[in-house]
Amino acid sequence: MQALMQDWSLTLDKILDHAARWHGDREVVTRSVEGPVTRSTYADLHRRAKQVSHGLLAMGIKPGDRVATMGWNSDRHLEVWYGCIGIGAVLHTLNPRLFPEQIIYIANHAQDTVLFADPACAPLLAELLPQCPTIKRVVFMSDEAPPTPFPAEAYEPWLSGRPADTAWGGFDETLAAGLCYTSGTTGNPKGVLYGHRSNYLHAMMTLQPDALNLSARDTVLLIVPMYHANAWGVMYSAPMVGAKLVLPGAKLDGASLHELMETEGVTYSAGVPTIWQMLLTHLKDTGGKLTTLRRVTVGGAACPESLIRALRDDYDVDVIQGWGMTETSPLATVSIPSPKVAALPFESQLPYKLKQGRLVCNLDLKLVDDAGQRLPHDGKTFGKLMIKGPTVASAYYGSEPGSALDEEGFFDTGDVSTIDADGWMQITDRAKDVIKSGGEWISSIDVENIAVGHPKAALCAVLGVVHPKWDERPILLVQLEPGQTAEKQEFLDYLDGKIARWWTPDDVLFVDEIPLGPTGKIDKKLLRTRLTGYELPFDPGLKR
Ligand code: ADP
Repeated sequence: MQALMQDWSLTLDKILDHAARWHGDREVVTRSVEGPVTRSTYADLHRRAKQVSHGLLAMGIKPGDRVATMGWNSDRHLEVWYGCIGIGAVLHTLNPRLFPEQIIYIANHAQDTVLFADPACAPLLAELLPQCPTIKRVVFMSDEAPPTPFPAEAYEPWLSGRPADTAWGGFDETLAAGLCYTSGTTGNPKGVLYGHRSNYLHAMMTLQPDALNLSARDTVLLIVPMYHANAWGVMYSAPMVGAKLVLPGAKLDGASLHELMETEGVTYSAGVPTIWQMLLTHLKDTGGKLTTLRRVTVGGAACPESLIRALRDDYDVDVIQGWGMTETSPLATVSIPSPKVAALPFESQLPYKLKQGRLVCNLDLKLVDDAGQRLPHDGKTFGKLMIKGPTVASAYYGSEPGSALDEEGFFDTGDVSTIDADGWMQITDRAKDVIKSGGEWISSIDVENIAVGHPKAALCAVLGVVHPKWDERPILLVQLEPGQTAEKQEFLDYLDGKIARWWTPDDVLFVDEIPLGPTGKIDKKLLRTRLTGYELPFDPGLKR
C-alpha cells in the first residue's frame, strides 16, 4: 500500500529557499578577496545565486554539466555553488593546493565546462588552462578580473542586472549535485559524485545533537575549505537551520581566524587538527582569549590529546572528534559521550574523546580481515573498516555503479580500526601508514598524538622504516615550536610509560618542517620521499 504523503523531492535548492524565506536576515560574513570583511544575508545570497543560475543558463550550461570552482570559502563561492546545483548542473570544487598535473588530470577527467576562480589563482590558471580544453569560460569571483593571458571576466559585472527568477529544482532527487576528488594520496585522484538526496540526508544526519548539533543560535566559522570533502556538509546544514555563517576566505592563519572568531561572535567551528594547533600557538603567543567559541569539531586526521586538553582547560572549548572521508560525504562517526561515558569524570572520558566515535544513524560499519571475513567488535581486534549507507559512494566518477562495494554492499574506507562492544570506533592507521613490526602492528597515529603533547613539539609524525630483523620500525619526526631546541632523549623519556615499550621509536629526527598536504594534513608521502636514503641507527645486537 502506498503512503498518502506529499511528494517533496529532497533537492538541495530547497535548503537555500528555506534559509532565504525563514531565516532571510541571518548574516553570511566573508573575508573577501578584496580584503575587507563583507556582510550579506541568506536572502541576499539566494537572490544572487538565482542570478548566477541565469548567467549559467545564458552560457549554455545544461543539467549534468560540470561547473568548476577554484577558490576559498566565500559568499560568492557559495552563490555559484547554489546557482549551479539549483539548475541541476554539477558543482565541481577544484583544490588549488594540488599539484598542477593533478588539477589538469582532474579537470579533464571531470570535463569541466566553465570555471569560477579566485583572482589569486590567475597565475596557476595561466599554467593549467592550455591543457584543459573543455573549460571554455573563466569568471573570477571578484569585482575586477586580474590581467591574464587567457580571456576571462569578473564576477560582479557578469552578475549585475541579471534577473533573479530562474526556476530551481523540479528534477529527480537522485541526480548528481557535486563532484569532489580525493587528494590522491595513492594513485590518481578519484571523483566522488554526490547526489541531491545524499547531501540532503547527510546534512540532516549531521545536524543531530549527537553529531554537529548546529542551531539557529549558532555562528559557524567554516574553516574546512569548500573544496575539501564536501565542506563537511556545512554549506547545507548551516542554511538548513539558519545559523550565521562566517567564511574566512584565504586567510587561515591563527591571527586572522582568531580575529573573525572574536569580532563575529563565533560559537562553533570545524577544521583539521593542524588548524587548531596553529590557532593555539597564536593564542599562547599573544595571550588571546576565545570569548564566544564553545565547541569545535576536529576531524580529517586523528585529534591529539594535547589539543583537547588545551582547548578545554585554557579556553573552555569542547573538542568533539569526527571521522569520515570524501567518499562518506563525509561525516560518519562522532566522539560524543554516550550515557555511560558522560557519567565518568573528565579524565576517564578522555580515552573516548580520542577515539573516532560512534556511528550516526543511517549508516552501518563492519570490520573485516584481508579475506573479507567479518571480525568481532571487541575493542581489540583490528581490521579493515567498511561502511555502508545512502551517503556513501558506491563507485568513483567514471566507473560502474556499485563497483567500489563488496558483496554485502560495503565500501572499503582504507582505514584500519577497532570497534568495541559499545560501538566506539578507533582508527589505528590508514592501511598504507600502518607500521608492521615483528608481525604486529604499531599505530603511527597513537604515537604521534602522544609525542605532540611534548611542550616543545609543534608537529610530530611517525613513519615506518625498513628493518632487517623486524620488517619495519617506527621513527619519530619532530618539528619543534619556534625557537626551541631539544635532545632525542627528551622525547623518548616523554613517551616512556605512555606507549608499549616495543612501540618506542628507534630514532628521533628534528626537522625544520613537517609538510602539510593539500587538505592541511601531515603529508607522509612527501616525508617518505624526503627520508630516502635514511638508515636506522646501528643496533650492535643485530647482524646486518
Ligand atoms: P585525503 O586525506 O585522502 O585527501 P579525505 O579527506 O577524504 O581524503 O580523508 C579521509 C581519511 O582521513 C580517512 O579515511 C581517515 O584515514 C582520515 N581521517 C578522517 N578523520 C579522521 C579522524 N578523526 N581520525 C583519524 N583519521 C581520520
